[in-house]
Amino acid sequence: MESQGSPRLRGAATAMALLLATPALAAERLPIFDTHVHYSRGAWEIFPPAAILEKFDRAGVPRAVVSSTPDAGTLRLHEAATARVVPFLRPYRTRGDMANWFRDPEVVAYLNQRLELDRHQGIGEFHLLDLADAGTPEMRAVIGQALARGLFLQVHAGAGQIEALFEIEPRLKIVWAHAGMNAPPEVIGALLDRYANLWTELSFRAGDVAQGADIAPDWRALLLRHADRFMIGTDTYTVDRWEEYWALVEQQRTWVSQLPPEAARAIAYGNAVRLFGAGKAAFWP
Ligand SMILES: [Zn+2]
Repeated sequence: MESQGSPRLRGAATAMALLLATPALAAERLPIFDTHVHYSRGAWEIFPPAAILEKFDRAGVPRAVVSSTPDAGTLRLHEAATARVVPFLRPYRTRGDMANWFRDPEVVAYLNQRLELDRHQGIGEFHLLDLADAGTPEMRAVIGQALARGLFLQVHAGAGQIEALFEIEPRLKIVWAHAGMNAPPEVIGALLDRYANLWTELSFRAGDVAQGADIAPDWRALLLRHADRFMIGTDTYTVDRWEEYWALVEQQRTWVSQLPPEAARAIAYGNAVRLFGAGKAAFWP
């Protein structure tokens, strides 16, 4: 996230109240592969890696895709628990890079230097808030790196930017952060229909998908139609969101547990395991 204002923890209290009332898979407590975690400077100054791992344990999150501003936090957490962290490289040295990184050759140099470490499975999360941002020489250089190294891109952008990236390079593998943040189910569905290498995660979207445990009909239809393309995320882009981490995970687990078991397991962790690896087989039922 980071591009918008105050955190929205919509319906979390309701979600927690409903926990006791949810049947079947909810009782099983699905493990969650959290595909949108940040461990940036503000967080690591307060929570050392051991505290983060405790938060993962308490929330039932065996493994997570992690990036940070700057990258040092990600690698520190990865060193503390290599099986539990999938490192992604964020092209931001400071939050100030967010607005203009796609026009800054120094950011590309930073990125290339970090990629030489050969530790990262993806590049992102990064923001492309305007359509024109997707075609700059710097963005094209990032696309070239992703392709050459077989990396995913984790992109916070509208549907138009996703189309523009695939137009530049159809072989890209893109994880669309927050399913576009405010894209409606028909727009998300059309993109997933069109691009086989597009996946998405639903951080910040729990309140759209479901009020408590009741999944909205259009979302349910979309989630079942593309059950192999959706994943769970929390987006810990502030210290506040680390403080409420358990509730953020529980809010997502509440609705995903209402899906038929096969789809629920795929979205909770199966799709992410397929894309990013299991870490340890014992993490997953
Ligand atoms: Zn984001």
